[in-house]
Amino acid sequence: MKILIVEDEPKTGDYLRQGLAEAGFTVDLARDGLDGLHLASTEDYDLVVLDVMLPGLDGWRVLQALRQAEREVPVLFLTARDSVDDRVKGLELGADDYLVKPFAFAELLARVRTLLRRGTKTKEADTLRVADLELDLPRRRVSRGGRRIDLTAKEFALLELLLRRHGEVLPRSLIASQVWDMNFDSDTNVIEVAVRRLRAKIDDGFEPKLIRTVRGMGYVLEAPACP
Ligand code: CA
Repeated sequence: MKILIVEDEPKTGDYLRQGLAEAGFTVDLARDGLDGLHLASTEDYDLVVLDVMLPGLDGWRVLQALRQAEREVPVLFLTARDSVDDRVKGLELGADDYLVKPFAFAELLARVRTLLRRGTKTKEADTLRVADLELDLPRRRVSRGGRRIDLTAKEFALLELLLRRHGEVLPRSLIASQVWDMNFDSDTNVIEVAVRRLRAKIDDGFEPKLIRTVRGMGYVLEAPACP
């Protein structure tokens, strides 16, 4: 688990870095808001501990920029101000929790662990995955082997259905009603065309092939069983 601390006070920053590292986390420390925003936008963190009063760019603006860029990393923000307005403002901007300075390290650690547990749960529920194929529902993104794949809205809906029911053979009639909201018409090849396009995007150039046609029955998405 990787944590970013954004804190300009050297003592507090070092103390947090050391404490979290001793608790088994990988820790990066940024000393100002710009640095913090840069790291949080380019690296993958499981959590950001963000001080509010920072030189350059304050914690609120860092948080706002992160959320505008759709970085959904959990944020625990540290505030010296014990004012309800400030806390409400932080939570409205998309912070997940806050801690008022001064705080006991044990309390920070407990909050960090709670946020990380919550983060993991959300990730599982929001991401559909088979083999190295991933569909991220809130971000509407698909990737295979870490490579981003662009899909049309219909292709996305089709893939979502196949992933949700992976391992099941889905008849064309079911796909037609779920994805196209239409009754199956044997004269139309809309579904065949869509499946072919989707397969070209997610299976061409990748192994193993995940989408299979089951002759006379429909389509199935599954990772072939290991030999
Ligand atoms: Ca500060």
